[in-house]
Amino acid sequence: MERIIEPFRIKAVEPLRMTSPEERRQILEAASWNLFRIAAEDILIDLLTDSGTGAMSAEQWAGIMRGDESYAGARSWYRFRDRVRELTGFQHIIPTHQGRAAERILFSCLGVRDRIVVSNTHFDTTRANVEFLGGRPVDIPTPEALTPDEVYPFKGNIDLGALKRILADSRDEVACVIHTITNNSGGGQPASMANIRSASEICRASGVPFFLDACRFAENSYFIKVREEGFEDRSVESIARETFSLADGATFSAKKDGLTNIGGFLGSNDDQLAQQEEALLILTEGFPTYGGMAGRDLEAIAVGLYEVVEEDYLRYRTASVAYLGEGLTEAGYPIVQPPGGHAIYIDAGAFLPEIEPLEFPAHALACELYLEGGIRSVEIGTLMFGGVDPATGEERVAPLELLRLAVPRRVYTKSHIDYVLEVAQAVAERRREVKGYRIVEEPPQLRHFTARLAPL
Ligand SMILES: *Cc1c(COP(=O)(O)O)cnc(C)c1O
Repeated sequence: MERIIEPFRIKAVEPLRMTSPEERRQILEAASWNLFRIAAEDILIDLLTDSGTGAMSAEQWAGIMRGDESYAGARSWYRFRDRVRELTGFQHIIPTHQGRAAERILFSCLGVRDRIVVSNTHFDTTRANVEFLGGRPVDIPTPEALTPDEVYPFKGNIDLGALKRILADSRDEVACVIHTITNNSGGGQPASMANIRSASEICRASGVPFFLDACRFAENSYFIKVREEGFEDRSVESIARETFSLADGATFSAKKDGLTNIGGFLGSNDDQLAQQEEALLILTEGFPTYGGMAGRDLEAIAVGLYEVVEEDYLRYRTASVAYLGEGLTEAGYPIVQPPGGHAIYIDAGAFLPEIEPLEFPAHALACELYLEGGIRSVEIGTLMFGGVDPATGEERVAPLELLRLAVPRRVYTKSHIDYVLEVAQAVAERRREVKGYRIVEEPPQLRHFTARLAPL
């Protein structure tokens, strides 16, 4: 059959609450025009993030009951550690409550103060952790990543030429290289095995540690299988293992390709580094056999890490995200091409050209989708990445003004997505009326989460 269906049936349902346009206007105004400030109950279709929002399987819920809550050496810990080790090959597995805890521990132990961390694109928490610890994040995405409408199979690649130059010019300043797969902030685009391998070789030749931000390793591996020559007959599991084998370690948020609602880990092969990481883990996260997690979470992640590499699941997953992308394109939205693994990124800068970056066009579009149909999405542009540059004292502007519609795993059906497309169509028809925003109040870090805004 040609039609790709959801490869599961539904066992538990959660009702959605309908709201009227007038109600939504009041709700958004009361939330200071920041969708992060809206109660989830007041959202109809929540495409804010694919992080921790997925549905667990019957087998994972069974794992929740099997969870062993012993403080030290719980059965669930061994199950978790063994599955993570089998998949990644890393010697040292440090459990953390989510990805950013792994990032903080890694960057603290590597010592990034007054040094550079290089990435294809740092995710927002990764960037914030590097900056908070006194380091300087440098993004070197492949040049194709900066032309949203160009179709290129591996826009998540790191720019190898730029990487070589940085290592030739300032090798001693580079604390590490971290390759984000898939590149979340750059459109959910995959990196090829060839690119990851070359980046790894370049780093090894200059003795710089090479890490993966592996949150979406399964989606990345599936794209390698279907897009990169020589991988079509390989299993996703074996592609994932090969990917991890190229790195010295990885940070991971189980809230994405762990198919759970919380959790993460930090993996590495360096005995000395792992010892330091474990010391810091005990100080702020928990004992090394549970990190910041309950035994039941460890159990659910172990099961999720088997389910996420199943090809029926990944075929449905990537097809359903692509379906959203194709519908938006038909409705007149320029999107980052080709569709990513977990989300569609609308090029709001191109869709609303009259709105300046410092007036947050993608944020304006996010507000319209909410007002029109109760849909929540997220700006990935100057609101997220801007703010005053500590080095120059000037307002930073993001390279692209994107609006991300992230698709939670195994949660929405095709008719939910059809509804999203109908709402998007209605907004597209009145795009000329859409106005920009200004910030009324903002915190020093990660301002998009809590800033208060007002329409212009
Ligand atoms: C979500 C995410 C993180 C951070 O993980 P949390 O579990 O949210 O702390 C880091 N990197 C990327 C690419 C992510 O998508």
